[in-house]
Amino acid sequence: MCTALQNKLGLGFSKIEEKVSLAGYTTFGVGGDADYFCTVQTKEDLSILLNWCKEVNIPFLTIGNGSNLLISDEGWKGLVIKLGDGFKKITRSKETITAGAGVSLRALLREVKSYSLGGLEPLAGIPGTIGGAVITNAGTSCGKMEDVVSKLTVMDCQGEKIVLKEQIGFFYRKSDIDTQKKIVVEVEFSLFEKDKNKIDEDMKNNIKERKKRQPWNMKSAGCVFKNPPEGSAAKFIEEANLKGLSKGGAVVSKLHANFIVNTGAATSNDILELINIIQDKVQKKFGIFLEPEIKIV
Ligand SMILES: Cc1cc2nc3c(=O)[nH]c(=O)nc-3n(C[C@H](O)[C@H](O)[C@H](O)COP(=O)(O)OP(=O)(O)OC[C@H]3O[C@@H](n4cnc5c(N)ncnc54)[C@H](O)[C@@H]3O)c2cc1C
Repeated sequence: MCTALQNKLGLGFSKIEEKVSLAGYTTFGVGGDADYFCTVQTKEDLSILLNWCKEVNIPFLTIGNGSNLLISDEGWKGLVIKLGDGFKKITRSKETITAGAGVSLRALLREVKSYSLGGLEPLAGIPGTIGGAVITNAGTSCGKMEDVVSKLTVMDCQGEKIVLKEQIGFFYRKSDIDTQKKIVVEVEFSLFEKDKNKIDEDMKNNIKERKKRQPWNMKSAGCVFKNPPEGSAAKFIEEANLKGLSKGGAVVSKLHANFIVNTGAATSNDILELINIIQDKVQKKFGIFLEPEIKIV
């Protein structure tokens, strides 16, 4: 712990640390150190941290479950913020659910199922937090976050703000929320009544399908590239004969060509090199540019 800084900032419940490896905070299992890392427990502490970043002019990176992130081997020159237990509450009012942005999708799905509320089943099996899922407009062809979100609470240096769904630009696997300035702290969902057994069945089917098609038990960040307008990114990668291609410890999955997996000793650079090779080969063979879906920082 960085006691001097902790005391200077007057953080109540949140601990700030120096030189923290980020590899353990991403599902790829790669990434260098963060200069500073804080698991923040209260909105007051979050406000202190955001103002400190502004004052000393360092960037912050909010990290959810790190399941859509490729962090460079050089790490993050600034502060990494992870929302702690103080941002993991779920409350209900009829068909409206409000969840802290640190809640995992898995925990939220379990909770809404117990209330017989449907709408989130397409997200079953996505290993993210609510905050990360809103930012990336996570989903599948069956449904996405923007279908169920009604309101957000975000924080920036000036304090807390409510943002209505109509004020947010949601696109394919992204939103226009400025993650360099704002942190999502709470999300309101508008769900609907649905039979508990049917919710359970739909969730289980989605997870079963996922396990069949994806290397779900290996270190990855899900699909690396967005599907281009011309079709499935996985299909183009497969047809360019890139399945199984490796760089260091990073391999193009043989099960799902749009996944790069870390077989154990990959570096962020290995993954980046594979990304570049895939983009190059697919561009040359099909004239198609594959845009990364994962966030590279
Ligand atoms: C096996 C596997 C399968 C996957 N399948 C899917 C899928 O089917 N569909 C899909 O859409 N995605 C999928 N993903 C990708 C990923 O799980 C989702 O994008 C997920 O929603 C990311 O959430 P996260 O909490 O891990 O976000 P992170 O990866 O931690 O962060 C993602 C982005 O959001 C920002 N961020 C995170 N929290 C906040 C916050 N509170 N406030 C502001 N910014 C924030 C980060 O800075 C970053 O820019 C998969 C990943 C894996 C590993």
